[in-house]
Amino acid sequence: MIVKDRFSRRRFITATASMLPAASVYASAKSMGLVSMFGTAQRAETTPTTNWRDAGVIDLSHSPYAKLKTVPVRAVVIQDGFWSQRRKTNVASSIPSMHDDLINHGRMDNFKRLAGKSSEPQKGPVYSDSDIYKWTEAVGFQLQVGDQPELRKSTDAMIRDVVAIQEPSGYLNTYYNGDKKTLRMQYDTQTTGHELYNIGHMLQGAIAYYRATGDRTLLDAGIRFVDDFLIPNYGPGANQKAIVSGHPEIEMALVELSRTTGERKYIDLAGYILHGDARVPLKPQQIVYMYCGMPFTSRTKLEGHAVRAMYACCGATDYYLETGDASYWKTLNALWDDLTAHQLYVNGGVGARAAGEAFGDAYELPNAQAYGESCAAIGNMMWNWRMLAASGEAKFTDVIERALYNGINSGMSLDGKTYCYRNPLAFDPAGESRDRHLVDGKIRNAWYDTTCCPPNLERTFASLSGYFYSTSSDGVYVHLYDNSEMNWNLHDGTGLKVEQKTNYPWSGEVKIKVSPATPSEFVMYVRIPGWSTKNTVKVNGKEFAGAKPGQYLAIRRRWSADDTIDMQFDMTTHLLKANPAVTEDRGRVAFQRGPIVFCMEHLDQPDHSSGMNLAGYTVLTDGVTTAHFEPTLLDGVMVLSHPGTISKSATDTGLYFPASTPEAPASPTTVRLIPYYAWANRDPASMQVWIPYKQA
Ligand SMILES: [Zn+2]
Repeated sequence: MIVKDRFSRRRFITATASMLPAASVYASAKSMGLVSMFGTAQRAETTPTTNWRDAGVIDLSHSPYAKLKTVPVRAVVIQDGFWSQRRKTNVASSIPSMHDDLINHGRMDNFKRLAGKSSEPQKGPVYSDSDIYKWTEAVGFQLQVGDQPELRKSTDAMIRDVVAIQEPSGYLNTYYNGDKKTLRMQYDTQTTGHELYNIGHMLQGAIAYYRATGDRTLLDAGIRFVDDFLIPNYGPGANQKAIVSGHPEIEMALVELSRTTGERKYIDLAGYILHGDARVPLKPQQIVYMYCGMPFTSRTKLEGHAVRAMYACCGATDYYLETGDASYWKTLNALWDDLTAHQLYVNGGVGARAAGEAFGDAYELPNAQAYGESCAAIGNMMWNWRMLAASGEAKFTDVIERALYNGINSGMSLDGKTYCYRNPLAFDPAGESRDRHLVDGKIRNAWYDTTCCPPNLERTFASLSGYFYSTSSDGVYVHLYDNSEMNWNLHDGTGLKVEQKTNYPWSGEVKIKVSPATPSEFVMYVRIPGWSTKNTVKVNGKEFAGAKPGQYLAIRRRWSADDTIDMQFDMTTHLLKANPAVTEDRGRVAFQRGPIVFCMEHLDQPDHSSGMNLAGYTVLTDGVTTAHFEPTLLDGVMVLSHPGTISKSATDTGLYFPASTPEAPASPTTVRLIPYYAWANRDPASMQVWIPYKQA
């Protein structure tokens, strides 16, 4: 493993100005320019902070290398349309039922016990505290949309129980207590114990809650952990111990903490962790699996645990957005190329292997065995959101959309009460009994002892309105389409209302009304999705040229109240093939219409009661796909019908037979496909995204 120290010139200059003497053994840390923050003479370098009500999903208002600035979650109201049902269910069903599940599985008793308020034993794995924090973050985003006094009251009570157990040292964790106390922050604990992962989620939850309510209780506890416990004891100094995040998460949380407080030291600590502390005795396979512990800028590919890798990329992009360190940007783009060339499932999921919940080799994208953890798809979206902010490039939004509408959206059942941990692209309920993430053969379950995915999905849907728009120095970017109204302002302070009317993603027609408070010249950057080959854009009824798939169309003009943009995207259904190197997809096609990836579920096929499975189906690539909306099916979905054939079940032949044997006659049939996100919401049934085809 080649470990190379990298640091930016800018960082070096700012840090060397106040550098303290450091022992030569810490030369690596010293060359990083990080010694100063751990000494007694800390820099008083702070940046202005944003009013808590005006911060977005992440707050890029003062991030020098963010081309795009986030818009507050509360500034955009998502109206009746595609996402409204999901979001209503999230707040009415998912968030409350997850609250009860967390309580019933002892996640709050873990805190109360340490305060003498419960006699229950410790329950759950080492990362159980994070379940509470991620749920709190979902509540925070929900309360940013609008106050809900009962929800706020119950969350306030939970927060009080959490902060009550914080020790005078600042340490806060429910697992490493009693006979486990001596294990705290030992090297082996840092790699597997998730102490910093828990605190990272605590900070994110605290920040979302603060941005909703102005309440700093949890935030201040998080700051005490970092200021009083972490920074004095862990870092490059001679009297400090080595640090490794183990499961990346703390990095992006520290950068967001810096954005929230204006304190530069948290960015420096994130940079130190991203760089890796050479004193931690890690094995090469740990550095691969954990995606930390070596300089992030020495990474050349995605590997190891998929959620860890995605969260590390989020933290590294956050670090870039604050520092502009070119070596980070270069690495991030190389990793993104690896993602989209070799590792990205068609549903936007990542992580091919169940073993280690890990990335596979290039093009290793199995379907039934796909891991595709909901958290990894969310991490993918969060990372691309940061890459988009840094660049303004629509190729990142295309990945966000692919993940959001498909591999993330599939993670939660339509009733909001059960969740997928894995999101495979093929499924046979009869053959999945060995899967440790199935309970009684069910891929969707209300509760997992490792319950990372459910609150992760909840925080994503609760924050969704914050992903619709960004602002830039010259205008506004429109990323996502759904019925909605934004009330925000341009960078010069001019108030701006943007209204969208659409039936997206079922229809490609989007009407946007642009209403600045006073007539102003600026650019409306409207996203032309990469899948839309033919596009028309009209401004106040007149055609506006230049729309290209996978780019933002810049419409610069003097806008005044009630100006309109009418867009028509191409909703032709595409039959996609995969690179031949993806062995499982050879001879198969997937269906995509707009941003939605479709699948066959056996229940929808005419033969489903015959005992045959999906193996006998083919689709004819020269056939014409028809799409029709079924309002009562699966909460209302577009259903695709496509000509195909069905032959006898594959089990009717021997295991091997001469290739010269005549093929069994196939009967014509019509294959029906539903959106992938809606699969496994009825009786257990076989499912496949990639379907064998016959080419005319
Ligand atoms: Zn998860």
